[in-house]
Amino acid sequence: MSLLAKRRLIVTGASSGIGHAAALLFAREGAHLILCARNAERLAAVAEEVSSLGGEVHCVSGDVALAATHEACVAAAQDAFGGLDGAFNNVGMVGPMAPLADIAPADFAEVLAVNLVAAHHAVRAQVPAMLAGEGGALVFTSSFVGNSVALPGMGAYASAKAGLTGLVKSLAADYAHMGIRANALLPGGTDTAMAGSEENKAWAAGLHPMRRIARPEEVAQAALFLLSDMASFVTGSSLWADGGNHATKVQAPW
Ligand code: NDP
Repeated sequence: MSLLAKRRLIVTGASSGIGHAAALLFAREGAHLILCARNAERLAAVAEEVSSLGGEVHCVSGDVALAATHEACVAAAQDAFGGLDGAFNNVGMVGPMAPLADIAPADFAEVLAVNLVAAHHAVRAQVPAMLAGEGGALVFTSSFVGNSVALPGMGAYASAKAGLTGLVKSLAADYAHMGIRANALLPGGTDTAMAGSEENKAWAAGLHPMRRIARPEEVAQAALFLLSDMASFVTGSSLWADGGNHATKVQAPW
């Protein structure tokens, strides 16, 4: 069974990490894809991988902090596929690590722009296009940070990711009766460029009862569930893919 057969989807942050894994998984499940990130060359390399799986794919390079990038992604879906059935709005950035009082206002604003305001730009571009068709599903990548834990130095990121979870619930409330589902995906530490050095990854593994961080493919599988009809009565939810981090702060003594 193909879980996303002929679904016309946007994937942002598709050139690396979770978005890259998602693009390949969604293509294997039959989706037609618009891939977005800033670096056109890295994006084209992923598009080639998707094509080699038989998936139909187009690229839009741009910054998700700009409304124009989301408008271009939607226009590309309409031109290439005749409409839009959903999106995996997945881009995020941590920004400079510092205690909150030491984070410059411009840095705080940039982290909010990429993690939170970008989601509103995405909604404004994607929702009308989906309402013009048969609705569909939107998934936004939030984080365990800001939702189950605060980590020192990550105050701007935590603020943005907590806000994103609220935006997604509101989106679900606004559009559930119109056939649009919206859910937040909350990964724990995941083995991508964002996770940093091997030392950082080992430290992050210790925050998770499963005592490891996720493979990007494991997080992509959770996104696949939320985008597919397997989640047909799931909206406004937060799906944790965090190795149990949110469930307990206590590690078993063995
Ligand atoms: P990666 O660093 O591996 O990938 C980030 C992707 O986003 C790249 O494709 C990058 O491409 C793109 N990107 C970054 N900034 C922008 C921008 N302003 N506009 C457009 N594209 C952009 O990160 P992950 O896969 O780890 O992160 C994916 C999501 O998962 C993020 O929302 C992150 O916050 C979240 N997350 C990650 C965790 C982890 O431990 N890795 C834990 C919890 C949540 P380019 O640079 O070319 O634009």
